Amino acid sequence: LISQDAVETRILKGAALARSLRAEIAAAKVHLNDLGCRPPVLASLLVGNNGAALAYRASIDRTFRKVEIEHRHVELSATTTPDDFVAALADLNADPSITGILVLMPLPEQLDPHLLLEHLSPLKDVDGITPTNAGRLHLGLPSLRPSTPAGGLELLDHAGINLEGTRITVIGRSNVVGRPLATLLTQRNATVTLCHRKTKDLAAETLGAEVICVAAGSPGLLIREMVSPGTVVIDFGVNVVDNGKIVGDTDYDGLIGRAGAITPVPGGTGPVTALVLARNTLAAGFAARRGTLDDVLFDLPEALLRAAKADQAAG
Ligand code: ADP
Repeated sequence: LISQDAVETRILKGAALARSLRAEIAAAKVHLNDLGCRPPVLASLLVGNNGAALAYRASIDRTFRKVEIEHRHVELSATTTPDDFVAALADLNADPSITGILVLMPLPEQLDPHLLLEHLSPLKDVDGITPTNAGRLHLGLPSLRPSTPAGGLELLDHAGINLEGTRITVIGRSNVVGRPLATLLTQRNATVTLCHRKTKDLAAETLGAEVICVAAGSPGLLIREMVSPGTVVIDFGVNVVDNGKIVGDTDYDGLIGRAGAITPVPGGTGPVTALVLARNTLAAGFAARRGTLDDVLFDLPEALLRAAKADQAAG
């Protein structure tokens, strides 16, 4: 007997969207070069050798190699003092050959993440974490946007999901994922509920949603009983479990046949995040020209956009 609520679940893989993003990146690279700017370069700063940080750096390597953007590794020892960390940031900020700077998390405990927020140049802040970029995002001004939520929005658009007036529940209010995602969705006229650890009845908030976005860092948090039939589920979780496997924040198998659509982990939001980071590195290149974040919204000339679309159609 097929249960009454059995639905066909669409698997939202990032691959098709990735193709379109790669085409856009290629066109933007040509345009940046046409404007006489230096080629884009991302510098990632690794302090110590945390496993999660190393894994993320390796995934950036793979993506940037594909889109032919340089990713420069900068490394500091695990015992780096706050003063030396700030000095290293100042060097990267001042280096004109570097377009974007990403500091790999987590930092060793003697380094307060606030140091980074205060000392990273907003013009090179490709993860949109500085007060300037976060503030501009919340005010609706052009800014460098955190890659993960910006990529999530692209995925929803690419899947043809209408956001206007839609009830969306976001689980997690971190500064890099949940909170900026809620802002971006609100700006797209969704009706957003932002949940977190103190939310009293999480299931009540998820059962009423048409779209659920999970960024809680908690494996298997979103289970079948919390999801109404047909709901779209976007999973931003990246959790390394006992056997070294990477899983998201949902009970993926349990949601098949219940959710209307779901992003797998790995292979859903992850590949899109790294490509948006590459696009942000280019966006920072445009911003560097006149030294203003107003230039991050690169309006590509028509001819370039047409060429990018043709490339995409050609596969
Ligand atoms: P990430 O980088 O994945 O966003 P953080 O650890 O910075 O992860 O933030 C996790 C967020 O998820 C926090 O806002 C926290 O309140 C939320 N969260 C974690 N576990 C739960 C849970 N069981 N229910 C609801 N929210 C949760």
